[in-house]
Amino acid sequence: MDDDTGVFTISLDTELAWGTFDKGNVERYEKAYRNTPEVIDQLCDLFDEYEIPATWAVVSHLLEDCGGNHPDRTSPDFEWVDDWFGELPCASGMDEELWYAPWLLNRIQDCGTEQEIGLHGSTHMQLGADGCSWRHAEEEIGVAVETLRSHGIEPKSFVFPRNDIGHLDVLQEHGIEAYRGVDARWYERASVPDVLKPSLRFADEAARLKPSVVEPVERGDIVEVPGSQVFRPSHNGWKYTLGGSSVARARKGLECAARVGGVFHLWLHPFNLGHELEKDLTRFEDLLRVVKQFVERRDIECRSMNDLIHCSREYGDAA
Ligand SMILES: [Zn+2]
Ligand SMILES: [Zn+2]
Repeated sequence: MDDDTGVFTISLDTELAWGTFDKGNVERYEKAYRNTPEVIDQLCDLFDEYEIPATWAVVSHLLEDCGGNHPDRTSPDFEWVDDWFGELPCASGMDEELWYAPWLLNRIQDCGTEQEIGLHGSTHMQLGADGCSWRHAEEEIGVAVETLRSHGIEPKSFVFPRNDIGHLDVLQEHGIEAYRGVDARWYERASVPDVLKPSLRFADEAARLKPSVVEPVERGDIVEVPGSQVFRPSHNGWKYTLGGSSVARARKGLECAARVGGVFHLWLHPFNLGHELEKDLTRFEDLLRVVKQFVERRDIECRSMNDLIHCSREYGDAA
């Protein structure tokens, strides 16, 4: 790849109720979770139609029905949940449809455009949070990698649950080569109180601010690919931003990536498109149509995260 061609990459936090069980708000997203198999099916069709090699970061426990048994694991000492392994969806009697998706890998691998399958943990453990020791991280990542290997997949890319970065050495040790960093916006830094972030993100969206174009950064033997923009769902407060804002912002990001030869990294959770299935998928296809225009002009190339870090580019220096 030429160094001056822009790149579009997309990562998908694929998790169902694993993403919310520990915060006790699964019910709030239940409808979207139940629509997620349909969303994923249609996303796969769209990625084929628009030739997009996406990176699917999956919670590996989606692939396993353990019967609620995790006898060899020790619960992390998080302040918001007492007994991690006792409260997992698989152990708490939750409807399987909300957390078990054995069909997932086959559907993704059936795509004609090759998709990358990476990881988002085995139980969506927040690796950077206080209470997650090296041992907890080691078990969480070890189990996740083992599960994918049992399906013939060697995962190379990782998305941290809640983008909470920690224990990079454990990822490296298990063969992970790249992870998504937090969005390149000043307020996404850890030093900014979490309570302020939603309104700042909302302001960016409402103002249709140009998302940041990024470059991969080497962090020791692992590469960080920061995020540029989350593709917003159309529920909660987000419906009050104008419907086209996500697409308008992405267009600005792609224009900039094409101009400077940088990377535009979009990300979302598939269930984000499950609140108003048809409307959300139409909005998402609008974005892919914009990507296609850039690709046809040879201003942008589409790459998975792993493909991206192996193409010949200069990496930035670690800050
Ligand atoms: Zn389990
Ligand atoms: Zn997640």
